[in-house]
Amino acid sequence: MVGATNQTLRPFMWRAGKLFPDREIVSRTAEGLTRYTYSEYEGRVAQLAGALADAGIERGDRVATFCWNHNRHFETYFGVPSMGAQLHTINPLLPDHHIQYIVENAEDRIIFVDPSLAPKLAGAVDEDAFASVEQFVVMASEVPDTDLTPVTDYESFIADQPTEYDWPDLPEDQPAGMCYTSGTTGKPKGVEYSQQMLWAHTMATLPKSALDIGSSDVIMPVVPMFHVNAWGLPFSTTAAGAKHVYPGPSPTPEDLAKLIEEEGVTMTAGVPTVWLGLLEYLDENDADMSSLERIIIGGSAAPKSVIRRFDEEYDVDVLHAWGMTEMSPVGTVAHLKPGMEDLPAEAQYEKRAKQGLLAPGLEMRVVDDDGNEVPWNGEDFGELWVRGPWVTTEYFERPDANEQDFEGNWLKTGDVVTVDEEGYVKIVDRAKDVIKSGGEWISSVELENTIMAHDDVAEATVVGVPHERWQERPVAFVVPAAGVTEDEVKREVVELVRKEFPKWWTPDEVVFIDEVPKTATGKFDKKVLRDQYDDASLVEGKAPEEDAPTDN
Ligand code: AMP
Repeated sequence: MVGATNQTLRPFMWRAGKLFPDREIVSRTAEGLTRYTYSEYEGRVAQLAGALADAGIERGDRVATFCWNHNRHFETYFGVPSMGAQLHTINPLLPDHHIQYIVENAEDRIIFVDPSLAPKLAGAVDEDAFASVEQFVVMASEVPDTDLTPVTDYESFIADQPTEYDWPDLPEDQPAGMCYTSGTTGKPKGVEYSQQMLWAHTMATLPKSALDIGSSDVIMPVVPMFHVNAWGLPFSTTAAGAKHVYPGPSPTPEDLAKLIEEEGVTMTAGVPTVWLGLLEYLDENDADMSSLERIIIGGSAAPKSVIRRFDEEYDVDVLHAWGMTEMSPVGTVAHLKPGMEDLPAEAQYEKRAKQGLLAPGLEMRVVDDDGNEVPWNGEDFGELWVRGPWVTTEYFERPDANEQDFEGNWLKTGDVVTVDEEGYVKIVDRAKDVIKSGGEWISSVELENTIMAHDDVAEATVVGVPHERWQERPVAFVVPAAGVTEDEVKREVVELVRKEFPKWWTPDEVVFIDEVPKTATGKFDKKVLRDQYDDASLVEGKAPEEDAPTDN
């Protein structure tokens, strides 16, 4: 038998600390910029691991974060999994009942929380759901005024620990990460990332055929670190020995432009909404974008106009990528194939606005309703199935969802796609009944259930409609009960939703209809409503921007 060491995260950190000791990690915080080197990072990560061990964290225990993008959060990325525990990144934008469900389901023992998010977390604490939680650690150098208990601050938590740690040899199947997805209906589903999955994803995303990351890069993930490990960028940036730039809580387009200019960012990444905001800012303000070489846009479809504008006005390449929580997450990247750079500009943008070519190491199938594979002709469509070393084959403790979403080791993505003759995947529809707004999921089914529980509502359905800035927004179609006034129902429906869900889940519009169209099998036919909804006069109000998910 041929021997080799296991595929784990440990060597990535070791290499960065030893080969690139002076390369920087820069982080925007509420107090200003923090800046230190990989060699200091390595020491602080060892201190964190020591503190976790002292707190009784053992191999396989789950340690959670409730944080934005910053250096302390990045310290947990290596510190938690490399000492053998599992890093569970919680999305703080979820409704409280989802947060309660996932903390209880994951049985988190410690939760690291940002000072600005402590009130939100404290509001979600429920004695039963949080029974496993022994300690809250606030990401600060002192404890703010908070209802969380018992609580300490991060700097005190790690302060007395040595800057070296005896890192264990871990098995490849050791759970290293965890992230819940609300990507389909019902309760959020936990996806676990083993040491090997994270290793494989890191190695797969480094080369030119994927994200093209090297030590000279300066990388700023704007995609939140609670979303599938910020698309794996903190790991791949470290593996390459590149410089990290973290935008901290609530970065505005101005903050992003400044960080790009002042830190010499070469690559950044996030959902389309962020880049629409930056383009708007750049229209009105001067900023030097000359260091920026490429932007990874994913999470929702990158508009062709955004790709074109960055290219023509700023000489920045947009790499459109598609992926999923279940895929660690990168699946496809829309690189041009050799020779395509000679195509007319419009044809190139057309290709680059597709979701792109499957990353090396993965396999895919496109399957129609009868279970047959569809031809790659750019027209026939079917559900995309994928498999590979960084694609999960099951959800955490969810046999019901496993049966629906996997077949053998194939993940059924729920994305409906065409594939053209050259192999470029294009998403044309979604089989899953959800809305993705500014990169965050809104469950149409949960909204429907809440709205339909109102006495004055006979029937209701919620669909996602295209929106220029947020890609999609929810619109509720309501059949009022006999004898009630529309205005009254409208107000109450909005109040009802606001009580149970974050504000940004509130439908942009409540439209009254006589009857919800149904399919032959009696299900709500949302496609009919979506198709009808191209009359702009139906939209009276947009979601208030301060409530939006990415403005945090
Ligand atoms: P999540 O698990 O939250 O990362 O969401 C994954 C889902 O987001 C995919 O299954 C798609 O429906 C959608 N998605 C991700 N990237 C893209 C993209 N580039 N274009 C269109 N939809 C995307």
